Amino acid sequence: MVPAVRRTSGSLSSAAAEKLRQAGVPEPEASAEVLLSELLGMRRSEASLYDGPLTDEHAAVYGAWISRRGSREPVQRILGKAYFRNLTLNLSDSTLVPRADTESVVEAVLERIDRRGFGRVLDVGTGSGAIAISVSQERPSCEVHATDLSEAALRTARHNADRAGAGVRFHAADLLHGLDKLRGGVDLLVSNPPYVRTADLVGLDPEVRAWDPAAALDGGPDGLAFYRRIFREAPPLLSRGAELVLEVGDGQAAEVLGLGEAAGYPPLGTYPDLTGTTRAVLLGRP
Ligand code: GLN
Repeated sequence: MVPAVRRTSGSLSSAAAEKLRQAGVPEPEASAEVLLSELLGMRRSEASLYDGPLTDEHAAVYGAWISRRGSREPVQRILGKAYFRNLTLNLSDSTLVPRADTESVVEAVLERIDRRGFGRVLDVGTGSGAIAISVSQERPSCEVHATDLSEAALRTARHNADRAGAGVRFHAADLLHGLDKLRGGVDLLVSNPPYVRTADLVGLDPEVRAWDPAAALDGGPDGLAFYRRIFREAPPLLSRGAELVLEVGDGQAAEVLGLGEAAGYPPLGTYPDLTGTTRAVLLGRP
């Protein structure tokens, strides 16, 4: 049984938001407004004020969506898509929901491309393709490669690239294995690797824990396993003068720069996300 969303007072979305608040959903208005705006093809600001009518079909769909959100399913999973920079990205069970935080990692990559005139970029562990497709679309002169271990993720990423008209070259690869064709040719390596400590996975928000693939989150006992592997495996692929831009979890920047430095990668800087938290580190090649 799908509980109906009944209007008690005010707009449809505020009634739905009240249900979500009672279910303990964070930022209930945002979810209620975005879902209604997607259902009706309105701007969110219009949807937030809309007080009907809804067709029976729309009412049933909205009720079902609000009920799913009330069970902590993320809005992007309900809709099957996420917005990221200029893109609308399809998602699958094998891809992380792209985060707004990662949009600033793309900013960092674009800044380095512009500053250094880089021509070839490699996105390691691309998931839905968010970083690679954005870079390809926003800097069309770059040759962008992207890897993922998951064939299902690569299918989703290829679909997203085709839809965006972006000519990203995708490779099925365990991190950097088997990319011999790129030997010595990668100017900028970017990655948002899994970086959550294994023991912290159970404490993540239900939206993340139950819906994002563990393989895209689990960074091993100290959360840093993938950075170690990238530092170990990247040198043969990097061009002279290459750089690495790596997304990091909250509080990990110094540790990741330290690991890089110990492996011979000069630490060059850090980048904040929109909340001011350090979200990416920049290193040179060893
Ligand atoms: N940013 C994600 C989170 O907050 C983690 C993504 C990752 O491990 N790269 O859960």
